[in-house]
Amino acid sequence: MSVAKELNPTARILMGPGPSDIHPQVLKAMATPMIGHLDPQFIEIMDGVMEMLRKLFRTKNQLTFAVSATGSAGMETCLVNLLEPGDEALICVHGVFGNRMCDIVERCGAKLIRVDAPWGNPMEPEKVQKALESCKPKLVAIVHAETSTGVLQPLEEISNIVHDAGALFLVDTVTSLGGTDVRVDDWGIDAVYSGTQKCISAPPGLSPVSFSTQAEEVLEKRKTKVQSWYLDLSMVRKYWSGAKRAYHHTAPISMNYALYEALRLILEEGLETRFKRHRKNHELLRDGLEAMGFEYIPAPEYRLPMLNAVKIPPGYDDAEVRGRLLNEYNIEIGGGLGDFAGKAWRIGLMGYSCTENHVHMLLAALQRIMKK
Ligand SMILES: *Cc1c(COP(=O)(O)O)cnc(C)c1O
Repeated sequence: MSVAKELNPTARILMGPGPSDIHPQVLKAMATPMIGHLDPQFIEIMDGVMEMLRKLFRTKNQLTFAVSATGSAGMETCLVNLLEPGDEALICVHGVFGNRMCDIVERCGAKLIRVDAPWGNPMEPEKVQKALESCKPKLVAIVHAETSTGVLQPLEEISNIVHDAGALFLVDTVTSLGGTDVRVDDWGIDAVYSGTQKCISAPPGLSPVSFSTQAEEVLEKRKTKVQSWYLDLSMVRKYWSGAKRAYHHTAPISMNYALYEALRLILEEGLETRFKRHRKNHELLRDGLEAMGFEYIPAPEYRLPMLNAVKIPPGYDDAEVRGRLLNEYNIEIGGGLGDFAGKAWRIGLMGYSCTENHVHMLLAALQRIMKK
């Protein structure tokens, strides 16, 4: 009888759109003893996660916790809880993840209004303003860091427009949180979700979320049950923050250990220091790539530090170069998604993967592979 061979994947250098490399202390945290999901010690860990997430999101929002599933479940949590059948939702689309929000809105039975911007560009506030003249949505949603295009979306002006129209403002911060400033309270964000495997540098598996008091009021006034049992906040929140912590589902214990430790490391480094590190290493990579003749997709003022989207230079095969990077150098970078499939590379400098050493390793490998 043959037995499957022992699990032993090759160590990679993760420089794609996530997951990113993980600090050894986070891996160590995951290997600490299992305890129960209602053990007072675990409740204390959950409280710690919530408190540290508030610091990272820069919010006082009481309802701030981590959904037990990946970033897309955070997206779904926000939409299925805030929308009821027949509600209108305006979704700004300038990449793959805006499209995903549209899909969920329709599955909620809500009326979708979408505003598109060309891929590689941010959404212009005037477009949102214009769209709001002919609809009255309950919420307006947008992606802060479009991982498919490398664009950093300015939020404040759009936030003001959205609130003037009496709508809630929902923001996807899956790629931005932990790598660049996200100011939930200052920017008037009513609902926000993120993921653990990008700039937080923990494994994929949890989705930090936060809701303003205005969003909480909307949740309380629902007339219909949330379509998803698993993501229904009226129940999930009692487990995370009720006076009596009640079982809803078994929290992924080890993943919460990982998030706890990753958040602790982020706050220990300091947010400003961490964001500066992301900017500096992005500049180092940019200078190296531009010297090799690469062109960025977004304009300089809208570039994400943690996700560098560049055009594949003519004469090089996408799959061949990325295959060689992985097989010969153990370096993973991302290919293009959607409109950019086969045309772009997406190079991540996220969290623990954002070091000078990572930049030098990638540039050296690319120079050897792309030597003509
Ligand atoms: C990665 C990502 C998601 C989806 O997160 P998953 O963890 O893959 O479910 C959503 N939005 C953005 C902007 C992302 O980069």
